[in-house]
Amino acid sequence: MLPRAELDVEAALEKVRPICEDVRHRGAEAVREHTRAFDGVELASTRVPVAKIGEALAALDPAVRDALEEAIRRTRIVHRDQRRTDTTTQVVRGGTVSERWVPVDRVGLYVPGGRAVYPSSVVMNVVPAQEAGVRSLAVTSPPQREFGGLPHPTILAACALLGVDEVYAAGGAQAIAMFAYGTEECPRADLVTGPGNIWVAAAKRLLKGVIGIDSEAGPTEIAILADATADPVHVAADLISQAEHDTLAAAVLVTDSAELAAAVETELAAQVARTKHTERITEALAGRQSGIVLVDDLDAGLMIVDAYAAEHLEIQTAGARAVAARVRNAGAVFIGAHAPVSLGDYLAGSNHVLPTGGCACHSSGLSVQSFLRGIHVVEYDEPALAEATARVVALAEAEDLPAHGAALKARFGWEIPGREGP
Ligand code: NAD
Repeated sequence: MLPRAELDVEAALEKVRPICEDVRHRGAEAVREHTRAFDGVELASTRVPVAKIGEALAALDPAVRDALEEAIRRTRIVHRDQRRTDTTTQVVRGGTVSERWVPVDRVGLYVPGGRAVYPSSVVMNVVPAQEAGVRSLAVTSPPQREFGGLPHPTILAACALLGVDEVYAAGGAQAIAMFAYGTEECPRADLVTGPGNIWVAAAKRLLKGVIGIDSEAGPTEIAILADATADPVHVAADLISQAEHDTLAAAVLVTDSAELAAAVETELAAQVARTKHTERITEALAGRQSGIVLVDDLDAGLMIVDAYAAEHLEIQTAGARAVAARVRNAGAVFIGAHAPVSLGDYLAGSNHVLPTGGCACHSSGLSVQSFLRGIHVVEYDEPALAEATARVVALAEAEDLPAHGAALKARFGWEIPGREGP
């Protein structure tokens, strides 16, 4: 009975399958054709000329440049702290297992740009990839008709600030397929990350395996767990802030206070009318995925928000930190009156690429870890292997895989060390 959108990723799969197949077989020509169909842009090439990236930075509004630079600084210090160190475990005398963290070689970073443009998503994708040590890094974002078929200039400028010069003008499923299969214009990537709309999320689910993906970060969700101490003006403003992303965005209030619920409804009506994207927000709030859930008490509220596993969860209750500590499932948790989701979208230092659609019960948001692989390195000397042989042989025979045991016995004259006879 939890609110979820009518159009889900599963339903979108059938629509994106032929697009991805087409890109697989026809490469860049197919990317350009789907771009013409969905974005209304005729591209000569999907690759953005490097000069255009520098030009965008030169023309960037100084206030936006300052904000982006500070967002990069805060995001970088948080993500730098996430870097993993290699570990070595002495398992037995003469036998060690190390775990070596190695970045993927090449990543494709998706930056959305359909209904809104997201230079902030450039920061959220690029910074953790750089901190992880990824060497080859490409950004793609939908081409904009009003900017001559290039991605939005603020996105290009953000790339320039981060030192990224490989940028593509492609969006939607065709962009994910471009990274997964590679084209004449864009070499294939090992991993694609980044948020996007339902078509982007569906393409990531479809191509997972062909290419690595981060969690599915689809249409935004906000859940707010609030009690009578919450300010209805703030609650309504925060719900609206996320509904602004997409007509499929979800805004859910869970409260034990009927008074707060009523006051928030009144506030929503007043604030939605005053905002810029009234139509989009009204559709998102009226959708099946949004609503107000009235619960008996905060314990019941916690059960609801855990079952929902929201991308963003605000706790606006008395003793919010203690309540937040009990949350099990959420992409990110925002505590109290002074940590709205909008802060996390841009400047908190946390990552805003977060799992949606209930994926927060098994996945994390984007982090340095998303770009690393842990490689086990096994090193045993002869006495340590000899000591292990009898047990390996016992397990190999129990699995009816005697050649496994033979691989060890061959090293000891076909005898099991420590045992009498052949
Ligand atoms: P987008 O870049 O995700 O999608 C635009 C592309 O979708 C277009 O380039 C087009 O090729 C494709 N497309 C449009 N209509 C289509 C159709 N009918 N069939 C197939 N493809 C189609 O930009 P957007 O639409 O603005 O969406 C951005 C999304 O990202 C929003 O839903 C927002 O909530 C979400 N978001 C999520 C997070 C997160 O971490 N979960 C963070 C930021 C943004």
